Amino acid sequence: MPSAAPFQLGWEEWIALRELGLPAIKAKIDTGAKTSALHASVIEPFGPAHAPQVRFLIQPDPGDPALEITCSAPVVDRREVTSSNGERELRYVIETHAELGGLTWPIQLTLSNRETMAYRMLLGRGAIQPSWIIDPNASFLQPPLGYQIYQGLPRRKPVKRPLRIALLTREPKNYSSRRLIEAAEKRGHVIEVIDTARCYMRIGAIDAEVHYDGEALPRYDAVIPRIGATITDYGMAVLRQFSNTGAFCLNTAGAIGRSRDKLLAHQMLARAKIAMPITAFAHSPKDTAGLVALAGGAPIVLKLLSSTQGKGVLLAETRKSAERLVDAFRGLDANFLVQEFVEEAGGADVRAFVVGGKVVGAMRRQAEKGEFRSNLHRGGTASEARLSPQERDVAREAAKVLRLEVAGVDLLQTKDGPKVLEVNSSPGLKGIEKATGKDIAARIIEHLETVVRPLSRHREPL
Ligand code: ADP
Ligand code: MG
Repeated sequence: MPSAAPFQLGWEEWIALRELGLPAIKAKIDTGAKTSALHASVIEPFGPAHAPQVRFLIQPDPGDPALEITCSAPVVDRREVTSSNGERELRYVIETHAELGGLTWPIQLTLSNRETMAYRMLLGRGAIQPSWIIDPNASFLQPPLGYQIYQGLPRRKPVKRPLRIALLTREPKNYSSRRLIEAAEKRGHVIEVIDTARCYMRIGAIDAEVHYDGEALPRYDAVIPRIGATITDYGMAVLRQFSNTGAFCLNTAGAIGRSRDKLLAHQMLARAKIAMPITAFAHSPKDTAGLVALAGGAPIVLKLLSSTQGKGVLLAETRKSAERLVDAFRGLDANFLVQEFVEEAGGADVRAFVVGGKVVGAMRRQAEKGEFRSNLHRGGTASEARLSPQERDVAREAAKVLRLEVAGVDLLQTKDGPKVLEVNSSPGLKGIEKATGKDIAARIIEHLETVVRPLSRHREPL
């Protein structure tokens, strides 16, 4: 605290509450009140009983209601407060650092829910040092800040505040879920598991809500979708609804849809000139021989578009067997693709795990003897892989083209360089963490911190 010249405040000053993500807010210095207060809305408690948190929205600029910032902080107390109209209410008390005129000091703030106040913040006696001089006739004796700071906000530094995260999954106990929960909690966030199939919603012009077991869910800062192939369409709808509530979706519904639709995904990758094995698509072509020839002739690989874990993937080594398989697939009335068999891959492929445009880990999967499919579910074995710069670029580019923040990009190593097989939008963590020994879950949460938007009204395009 200053000792030479006394520290002076006017009756209004600009304050920064950086931990809350508020780089500037105009406060009334109110020596008549003991406690300091913030005027917030949608004040929702969250987190475990032993470490309660509260999430709230602040419109720092009274002249611009569209500027609304999402904040959260640990709750240090709940206090009964009598407001000016005589009503008693229980308010959350949070602690944070205030910054003003080169000084930074801890203050306590109560959260109140009144929108009519001209000042979004009151600085009470309790936050003012006895040695400071308050001049009730002067304003802004300390450097002013201004609301224009908020214009650059969406691209600013990672959030430091605790996030309220929803993990959207049908399998809360599986390895990936457990690891994501662990990593989020370790970094101070609160993560709640939401079963995709149990969500329901009304679509309408009024405030978007997701309902769950008879109640509307609270607002989340972010949703991490882990959507299984059996529930893609409904999962995407639920995810869009979360997005409408203002939650940031780590992998948007649109991106998941693009990656799940193999036809669309291949077409988008092809348009971006990303190399892939020669691939022909068909539904029920009459020209069987022509289709096989289009994929470069036998040997070829046939894949049902709905295949996962290698289940619908077959190898035809001769032209005759290729044509017979195409005929059989046609009889199923299914969409399928016919692909050049990349023999030199030797039953191996490479999974590059991409998070936020970076490869954070890679593994090589080797098929069992006598099997060309390297899926771990088919008995393949995994080991850490070192990618060439070219493989790294292809993986990053593939995730980028489909606009996936988190992606598992599968590559075949061919004599003509890496070729993309498929891009997975809910890649499992078990194989990659075991093979690489890396904390991939932590990389995902760290990345989430950098992309969550501080503006509560931010909406991702559908
Ligand atoms: P799924 O979605 O069912 O996992 P994939 O397209 O990933 O289907 O194929 C499963 C596995 O089969 C791959 O991981 C790879 O090892 C092997 N494979 C797939 N396509 C080819 C191909 N064109 N050439 C060689 N091997 C392939
Ligand atoms: Mg695969």
